Amino acid sequence: MRPFLKQFKLDRINLRLSHLSFSILYSVITYVVYNAFTLDKIAKWFYVKGEYDYLGLGAYYLVGLSLAIAVFMLVAHKWTIKPFAIFFTILSGMSTYFIVKYDVAIDLSMLENTLNTDPTEVRGLLSFQMIPYIFFLILLPSIGIYFVDIHFKPKGKYLIESLVAFAGSFILALALLYAQFNPIHRAGNMSRKYIVYQLTPVNHMQSIIGLIQYRIQDLFPGKADEPIFVTANATQFDEDLIVVLVVGESARQKNFNLYGYNREKTTPILSNVEDLHALNGIAKYGSTLYALPHILKKQDVSIATISAAAGIQTACYSHFSLYDNCGTVDQIRVSNCKYGDDCYDEDVIPLLKKNLSTYENGQRFIVLHLGGGSHGPNYQKRIPEDYYRFQPLCDDADVINECTENELYNSYDNTILYTDYVLGNIIKELDESNAPYVFIYISDHGESLMEEGRVFHGMPPGIPLPPEQKQVPLLVKSSIPLTILDRDEYPQPHVFDSVLDLLSIETNISDKSDSFLKK
Ligand SMILES: [Zn+2]
Repeated sequence: MRPFLKQFKLDRINLRLSHLSFSILYSVITYVVYNAFTLDKIAKWFYVKGEYDYLGLGAYYLVGLSLAIAVFMLVAHKWTIKPFAIFFTILSGMSTYFIVKYDVAIDLSMLENTLNTDPTEVRGLLSFQMIPYIFFLILLPSIGIYFVDIHFKPKGKYLIESLVAFAGSFILALALLYAQFNPIHRAGNMSRKYIVYQLTPVNHMQSIIGLIQYRIQDLFPGKADEPIFVTANATQFDEDLIVVLVVGESARQKNFNLYGYNREKTTPILSNVEDLHALNGIAKYGSTLYALPHILKKQDVSIATISAAAGIQTACYSHFSLYDNCGTVDQIRVSNCKYGDDCYDEDVIPLLKKNLSTYENGQRFIVLHLGGGSHGPNYQKRIPEDYYRFQPLCDDADVINECTENELYNSYDNTILYTDYVLGNIIKELDESNAPYVFIYISDHGESLMEEGRVFHGMPPGIPLPPEQKQVPLLVKSSIPLTILDRDEYPQPHVFDSVLDLLSIETNISDKSDSFLKK
């Protein structure tokens, strides 16, 4: 190589950089070059009411860059810095080509496919158009990296520099994310995470982390849990009672007539149900994945596992998914849906009906998941067309630019009207079964509809939910004599304790004093 370089006098070019300068320079240059191709695609999600939110957009790009630097610092060591720089260059160059040419999202499944596809499939994706990308985005930069002379300070010093750079950029990323959470969260939601999938190298990082998590889970199926003691009170064991716990999705008190809403008649059926109690339910997490276990689990043990272990016939019926929150009880998902291929929340009712039809006596516990609920941004997709009652609707995922507040509220109110219909029918089925029952409905979290510019749901870790996401409907109806303890707030985990209290089950992980339902 040297004599060849000498011939062109290239050996005199001496690119000598400290490891820190190289890491930062490499991260910045590649970040700018690879993301220049998708600037318009990402920026459009930060276009709000006729103008760009430069602060949000700028913060988003800086978060990405800071993360890129932080991660690169982790691999920037003597023998790994160049191989990793070249590996990332190849990965980023290829993704840029695929993003530009096919407009694909680079996510976990894409990475899995790339790793698992057979070579003939990959060949099908290649084309001559790739050549300039390979030359300018992969080959040239890789040669450049190969020839840079990277200088490392004596051991202790370079490691400390790495650590400071890692911590500094990581903290900067977090601070920016918290400071500009609203616009970034909104853009992420409206773009269905495309702003993440198309930001190189953040897309690779989250894919690789996801892949590692996935593989690790496969390696260690089920960790050993602490022993859980379950005792069912034998004296109550032959009591007749069905407890039905209905878990909702993105419903907020604010739009239920039962909680004083009067813009539209959203709960005409429930408003006429006698002895239906509307309590102040309190959610803690703005994400379904965290909210469901907050309602259905304690110390990672599902309430369904406990009731089944106590010998009570237990069932979980879901529209969408309760994930692993039914524990040892099989989760049965809706099928043979009323509207054909499109399933809706009401499709859990036939499952409930079938369950009730076999009831003679004893205790039962049934979890129903109304996972369609009132989830944005396309509220219409969650309900059958018959329920597009309040018009005009917000038809666009870009709810901030393309919809008026009136349209947004109409769309959301329609989902509450449909939930009213579904819950009304569940109560009707229970009444008609003549079985003694306690019905409880609670939503996983609420939803923001432009309150202080917020939309959808979710807040960064450690930041409490705003009122419209925190205050969720908690409805109780009982066919047996029941005392509801009067409290200002009913946090979701108290539902767990109340259900076990109703079923006369005692465990070392539930707290009877938090139960608010007393027989
Ligand atoms: Zn949810």
